[in-house]
Amino acid sequence: MFNVVGLNEFVGTANSELHCWLCQKPVSTRALFCHHCGTIQPVRDIDHFARLGLERRIDIDMELLERQYAALGRTLDPQRFIIRGMGERSHAAKQLESLNEAYDVLREPLRRGRYWLTLHEKEFDEASAANPVVTELRHELEKAAEPCHCDRVAQKAGQALQEGIMGLMQALRGQNWQQANATLVELDGLESILGDVRSRRTQLMPKKEAKAGISGVE
Ligand SMILES: [Zn+2]
Repeated sequence: MFNVVGLNEFVGTANSELHCWLCQKPVSTRALFCHHCGTIQPVRDIDHFARLGLERRIDIDMELLERQYAALGRTLDPQRFIIRGMGERSHAAKQLESLNEAYDVLREPLRRGRYWLTLHEKEFDEASAANPVVTELRHELEKAAEPCHCDRVAQKAGQALQEGIMGLMQALRGQNWQQANATLVELDGLESILGDVRSRRTQLMPKKEAKAGISGVE
């Protein structure tokens, strides 16, 4: 049918509670296609890892993620369903949408981290106390009088972001939920600073340079 790692999970053990919408034979929760009639199945309530045929782990093999995503994307290519009925086309389109959403969450460490917390039913508490690193950088940005000051803030924020992501993964691995939550708050703050740096820098740039669209900050 289609060549993806974890194929057996997709066609695997039939779940007695689920039935193919077309032939009514039992299908497994993870099955993209009915084992009996080969028809595409509706989107089921499975987690993003299962949707991509991956083990549920916070540390993701990025190469494997890309491979799975590409293979499943080809399987769900709308072109393949063009001659099918409305029902099948619609299920395929929704499957593809869910696949894209799962992929977008898993490939981004921050989104993956937040998702990991919800998977473990840990509420993300945005109201945590202000993070000292974020507060300091925000203060520094407010004082910035020249584009180069902004660049320095961006550099510091970018570095803190990289370190923070590593810290986040470590906290999630160790199931240190409180630490993970605090780190996510810090990372959110850092991302928002990086956004503000760009607009502040544009304000500070000489008119001509701004028009040319030179930014230098990413
Ligand atoms: Zn069927």
